[in-house]
Amino acid sequence: MTVRKELLNNIRIVDPYVPGEQPRQKVVKLNTNENPYPPAPEVKAVFDELKEDEFRLYPDPTSGKLIKALADQLKVGEDQIFVGVGSDDVLSLCFLTFFNSEKPILFPDITYSFYQVWANLYRIPYVCPKLDGKFRIVKEDYYKVNGGIIFPNPNAPTAIYEEVDFIEDILRHNRDNIVIIDEAYVDFAGKSAISLIDRYDNLIVTQTFSKSRSMAGMRIGYAVSNPELIRCLNDVKYSFNSYTMSCAAISCGAAALENTEYFKTNISKIVQTRENVKEQLRDLGFECTDSKANFLFVTHPRYDALKLFEELKEAGIYVRHWNDPKIKDYLRITIGTDEEMKIFLDFLKKKIGA
Ligand SMILES: *Cc1c(COP(=O)(O)O)cnc(C)c1O
Repeated sequence: MTVRKELLNNIRIVDPYVPGEQPRQKVVKLNTNENPYPPAPEVKAVFDELKEDEFRLYPDPTSGKLIKALADQLKVGEDQIFVGVGSDDVLSLCFLTFFNSEKPILFPDITYSFYQVWANLYRIPYVCPKLDGKFRIVKEDYYKVNGGIIFPNPNAPTAIYEEVDFIEDILRHNRDNIVIIDEAYVDFAGKSAISLIDRYDNLIVTQTFSKSRSMAGMRIGYAVSNPELIRCLNDVKYSFNSYTMSCAAISCGAAALENTEYFKTNISKIVQTRENVKEQLRDLGFECTDSKANFLFVTHPRYDALKLFEELKEAGIYVRHWNDPKIKDYLRITIGTDEEMKIFLDFLKKKIGA
């Protein structure tokens, strides 16, 4: 049966975000920026000890245990943190809560493609300033009239990181606008803009357990800001769904924060692999941006990216490619284990030759 046109007129029709594939067969999976190593051992231990009540009862609506663990870790007040079901949930609520101007919000023309989806979903006007010829954000573009600003740092999929001073310049030129910095990859990069939270009341920083803490499947993300903006986020959340975080996510998230040593080792292994792979790709003639994330953004002057993407997939090696004309010559490659990267590089060496 087809739905009649009269009905469709009042339906919110949107172009959804298209996530990378999650193949069920065994492949070398370098396509959605997951961490190739397991989470801290404390996480599995806590998960295995979950009590029946943690299934039977509703969770703590404030996610208090997780908020406290994060506040201790980040050295901010508990009232400065908001947690959600991955940073996608947190960011989506931020769009709904903070972007209500008639003026357009600003985000780069090459960036996390979910921003455009949320802007359309919530009917938020937006303008997308172009990156420069080297895929860098031009900060002056964000000094013009706007209804809010958002971008990832490091940016995705370019992997390029801007220093905290750069963020501060944008904040200073936007005293009356909310600026959201999406730090999904900052743990692989450098300093977080959280250091600016107490000086700029217009700043919101989001982070996630999905990449650096190897917990994409558990869905934990958070925002850090001043107590007043966090309260606004909570009010919208409680108008939506009081129990976003499961008992398992609250407990496992708190456990993940206990082992700093494990976390640091995990990160430095990935950074080391990233640098090795980058060098080998350059030897094969690839050009790579200066990645500060857990993925590389690469192009080859003589090989078609889409064709390479398909050949890799045929060989059971999944990377990411977009049909967007601005980046159609590029592949995004998640950093896996050294063994996975060897399989990937061996394939390219055979294909392209040394
Ligand atoms: C992965 C990612 C997110 C969302 O991650 P969650 O798993 O929802 O926490 C947000 N922003 C960027 C730029 C990402 O790459």
